[in-house]
Amino acid sequence: MFNELYTEIILENSRNKKNRGELKSPSKVERGHNPSCGDDLTLMVNIEDDIIKDAKFIGDGCAISTASISIMIDLIKDKDIAYAKSLIDSYFRMVQGKEITNSEREALEDAALFESLQDMPARIKCGTLGWHCLKVMIAPESD
Ligand code: ZN
Repeated sequence: MFNELYTEIILENSRNKKNRGELKSPSKVERGHNPSCGDDLTLMVNIEDDIIKDAKFIGDGCAISTASISIMIDLIKDKDIAYAKSLIDSYFRMVQGKEITNSEREALEDAALFESLQDMPARIKCGTLGWHCLKVMIAPESD
């Protein structure tokens, strides 16, 4: 389970509204639905010249799903697609319990706390919902 500090960070990010809302003319929109928990989130991004200029999400979900998509948005904004792809790769390997390097963990910042998901199989879909939306948008070929 998450320790107290992690729980606090998750709740804080989950309640934070700064990454919520609709983009006026998103270049990509992807909806993610997790029936086992009821999470239903839609990620919108604006990509210009391979840079993720802006990203926001709408919808409802549990604290884990909304915190993880919001932390992800903070990480990818103003970053290029190649960098976002490498974050996605690190994140998915981490939650699957695979080895990641210290520099990968550092790059994931607060998202690294979701490493605990590997011990909570029922919640992995919550913590990867937003990341999966992003993956479908920019890295559909990788797995
Ligand atoms: Zn959930």
